[in-house]
Formats: sequence, structure tokens, C-alpha cells
Amino acid sequence: MSDALPPLREVIAEHALGADKRFGQNYLLDLNLTAKIARLCGDMAEATVFEVGPGPGGLTRALLSEGAGAVVAIEKDRRFIPALDQIAAAYPGRLHAVEADALTVDEPALRPDGLRMVASNLPYNVGTALLIKWLEAEPVWWSRLVLMFQKEVAERIVARPGQDAYGRLGILVAARAKARYAFTVPARAFTPPPKVDSAVVVLEPLPETERFDDLSALKTVTESAFGQRRKTLRRSMAAAAGQTKASAEELLTGCGIDPGARAETVGPAGFMALARAWRAAR
Ligand code: SAM
Repeated sequence: MSDALPPLREVIAEHALGADKRFGQNYLLDLNLTAKIARLCGDMAEATVFEVGPGPGGLTRALLSEGAGAVVAIEKDRRFIPALDQIAAAYPGRLHAVEADALTVDEPALRPDGLRMVASNLPYNVGTALLIKWLEAEPVWWSRLVLMFQKEVAERIVARPGQDAYGRLGILVAARAKARYAFTVPARAFTPPPKVDSAVVVLEPLPETERFDDLSALKTVTESAFGQRRKTLRRSMAAAAGQTKASAEELLTGCGIDPGARAETVGPAGFMALARAWRAAR
């Protein structure tokens, strides 16, 4: 890292930034790792990168030194703001630290135009909720999401039919974005180390014409189908079908899905068709 800022361990000691479990605080202090994550953003020169949970600023500094045009860092724990202000002073005009809850922040209102991305070592307790928030955003304002999750969640995000991790989350992602698993980060890379390994995934939005627009219906049918994943779809889909004029059997056969199949064998396109049929039958 080419910045003249003090080492992160000094920053943490100076500002008394001991990790607080309630906020899912596990710091990345390895500069090779933070640079590797930042580089997954690609060319950031013209971009604003939203970073959720900058904490003491390891990834923030990597994003800036790897060339992000601007970083908007959204941090819920105000203890970090003075350390972030120090980084902002070292990169004049490029870092804007916002004390806020990322779940309720309206990112496009903060930066209405231009190329926008998200890069984050996500707090594990709100990671999935944040991903869903960004997937649901309409119009889609982000060109790329570079996100660290618990490894098991990352596997669910990229899972394909037939794999153990395949389910609702992978289907909701596939409806809106292309996702790839970038790399695994062992628990020991964090301070303090969490109980499980993590992994970084990279998401890019599907072209507008390929994006599925009724995520609410897709959530309902996948919740029903995977709520009882060992049952056949004929039975597990009964709850969602109960909200329509059609039976589960009718909804499924109308989409060319075998009612005797199990949810984990049906691909995302099948569930999108089912969501459309469910909506039409209401
Ligand atoms: N980016 C730092 C790093 O990689 O070392 C810290 C990552 S730590 C896993 C998660 C960070 O998210 C913490 O700084 C925590 O305070 C912050 N955080 C937790 N919940 C948040 C929320 N709802 N909105 C914004 N920040 C949040």
C-alpha cells in the first residue's frame, strides 16, 4: 500500500477500536488481501465505490490506493468516524464517510449519477439482507458488487440445481445478476477470527431485458418450494398455490415442471416461470 497512513493495528490502538460482536466486527488487516479484494472492482477510476462497514478502514484504504475515483463509506458504529476522517485527509476529496445504517441508506440519493459499485467485507448479521436490497433496487444503479460473506452464504449465492447449497438465495440472485465465487478467505485472516471461513463473490447485473422483475412473487414461490425441500413440488407448493385460484399441480404443469419433482432439481428459469404463473393466477 502506498499511502502514508499509520499501520491499521496502530489506528485500532490509537482510537480504541476493539471489535464489537454486536456489529459483526471482524477486521481485515492483511494489505495483500484488501488489495486483492479491491482489484476485483476492475477499473474504478471513474467510479464511486460504496463501502458498507469500513471499520478501521483497511479495505477503504485499498480501494483508494487501487484508484477508486471516490469512496462513500457507510458505517453504523460512530467510533470509526475519526479514523475514517484521517484517511479522508490523506486522499483529499475522494472519501466521504457517512454514519448510517446501510440497510436503510438510499445509495442513489447520495450519488445520483455515474458509475457506481459496492465493495464490502460485510457484517455477517446483515449481509444477506443487504444483498437482497441491492438485487431488488429498481432501476439497478450498481455495475458491480464485490462482497465478502460467510463461505456457506457465498456458496448459496452461486449454487446450481442439484448442489446442496442450491435454494432461494441462488435463485433470487440468478433472477437479477451473474454471480461468481472469487476466492475463499480463511477465518484466521480476520482479527478477531470468526468461527467460519469467508469468501468473496462478484456480481454484475443482467442486461435489463434478461432481468426478472417480480422478485416478490419469486420469493413467495421459492419460500414455499424450499420450505419443505424433501417433499415433492406438488406438496411443497401447496402453500403458495393456496393464495391463487389454481392448484399446485396446475401451476406446475402449466410451466412444464413435473409436480413429482423436488425443488432442488428445478433451475432458476423454472422458478421464474412458476412465479409468473403464480402472479397470473392470483
Ligand atoms: N471493512 C472492515 C474490514 O474489512 O476490516 C470492517 C468489516 S466488519 C466485518 C463489518 C463492519 O460493518 C463493521 O465496521 C461494523 O461496524 C459495520 N456495520 C455493521 N452493521 C452495519 C450496518 N447495518 N450498516 C453499516 N455498517 C455496519
